[in-house]
Amino acid sequence: MSYLVLARKWRPQTFGDLIGQEHVCRTLQNAILSGRVAHAFLFTGARGVGKTSAARILAKALQCERGPVAEPCNNCPACDEITTGNSADVFEIDGASNTGVEDIRELRENIKYLPSRCRFKIFIIDEVHMLSTSAFNALLKTLEEPPPHVKFIFATTEPHKVPITILSRCQRFDFKRIPLPKIVDHLRTIVRQENVTVSDASLTAIARKGDGSLRDSLSTLDQVLAFCGDEVGDDEVLGILGVVDRRLLTETSRTVFSRDCRAALDIVARVDSCGYSMRQFCQELIEHFRNLTVIKVTQAPSELLDVAEGELEEIRHQADAVTLEDVRRHLSILLKAEAEMAVSGFTRLILELALLKMCTLVPVVPVGDILERLKALERGAGSAVHGKPARTARVDAPVALEEPRTPARVSPPASGGSGQAREGWAGFVSFVAGERKRLGAILEHGRPLRFTAECVEIGFPAGSFHLACLEDEESLTSLAEMAGRYWKSSPVVRVTPVSGEARDLPASVREKKNRETASRHRALEEAARKNEVVSAALNIFGGEIDEIEEIRQKTDTKEVKD
Ligand SMILES: [Zn+2]
Repeated sequence: MSYLVLARKWRPQTFGDLIGQEHVCRTLQNAILSGRVAHAFLFTGARGVGKTSAARILAKALQCERGPVAEPCNNCPACDEITTGNSADVFEIDGASNTGVEDIRELRENIKYLPSRCRFKIFIIDEVHMLSTSAFNALLKTLEEPPPHVKFIFATTEPHKVPITILSRCQRFDFKRIPLPKIVDHLRTIVRQENVTVSDASLTAIARKGDGSLRDSLSTLDQVLAFCGDEVGDDEVLGILGVVDRRLLTETSRTVFSRDCRAALDIVARVDSCGYSMRQFCQELIEHFRNLTVIKVTQAPSELLDVAEGELEEIRHQADAVTLEDVRRHLSILLKAEAEMAVSGFTRLILELALLKMCTLVPVVPVGDILERLKALERGAGSAVHGKPARTARVDAPVALEEPRTPARVSPPASGGSGQAREGWAGFVSFVAGERKRLGAILEHGRPLRFTAECVEIGFPAGSFHLACLEDEESLTSLAEMAGRYWKSSPVVRVTPVSGEARDLPASVREKKNRETASRHRALEEAARKNEVVSAALNIFGGEIDEIEEIRQKTDTKEVKD
């Protein structure tokens, strides 16, 4: 008894039989029905997704004695001859082995003659990207002025290698990878008709091995049937395919989510004893966590997932129990581990460390929950809060801390032994600023060397911008006038250059302000550190205080006293 491999035995004979390429079939059938069939077609897509089958079906639909028809009858001599590969008018050329210009010249000679029995001469060139440049050029001449009785159907897995001049003369159809569930359905139909019992889990493993290619999946099924006979056990299938048992993947994620370090290490040991490669297992785990991610973000994930129906339920169930952020973090640990495995010999250790890290990953708490917890803490600790709270304690994740209801004030730091006279100076600077903003701003930088009812002497660093600004007559007069009004006398105003490094001179208003700000910040930081809410936040996030920002009170008290 001769054995016909499944891929040939179950080769689709009508557009309706083609799995997963409905978009292509519909367009081709519409073109046939409306009589607008192109001269040249380009079928692109991965191997084993139905390009050559579609080419033969199209050829039959065009040549069928009842046609051209949307579906070939598969009964007439024209259809039969194409099915068996004996048609005198349909030529299948393998681009990989007929790459030369001679082959194309021969083809061009052939084209001149009318078809012997059918409507068209149809040339199916598989792997067309393999043709040589001169062969392409020869082909191009034919494509530019194709005789009406000639049709070309090109198929390729690598359309980018086909010259643009050829591409532009073809109607292009992109064949898709066939979704896993569709392949599984098809395999199930086949094994039922072949009277073999294979579980869905095994069929899924077989289909997965085919990676979107129906032909590869069927070859794998052939292999499995040849090995197992009519009784196909799941373990045998996994053994033959050398693939990881999917249950081990879902078990791993379950273990990680339940934070069971011991069980995680056991899984690695089992992976090892089954003889799987650690890296392959890690890659399949990555795919599994990707599935979890997809489930988390989409309601109807079937188009985005290569997962069998039974497995989908388990993944959905697991995904419900974790946050998207956590899945994402697990995934990035796995990706990092996989990259390390590529360059390291310690693949088992890397996998173990990765799984342990995943088991001990602190779950991310939604910010809303944290705020709730902080508020609760605050209510308990509110009375113990010292000082103005920091509005933002920048830690791992930024959290807006709410202002406690009864903020105790940090007492302003002592202003450093300034006498009444100095207060008077600050008051004067503020007075000037109120009258003439620019003059006030300049005066902030001046050192009050002397100010009495008779004389106001202000020091500025020699050569400074501020000194230059005040040296003109108009500014001095103006200052003298304001000093007179402020002190109710008529002092002489003098501007004196001083050395920039003179530390023993009286401080300018600006210097004092800077010092005060710095010391207030120190006090605030101290208060924030002692604040229970802040320290709880630091604990939760494992962060530290990076920056403290003051909350401006609604009734801003004036800094400068008049
Ligand atoms: Zn027919």
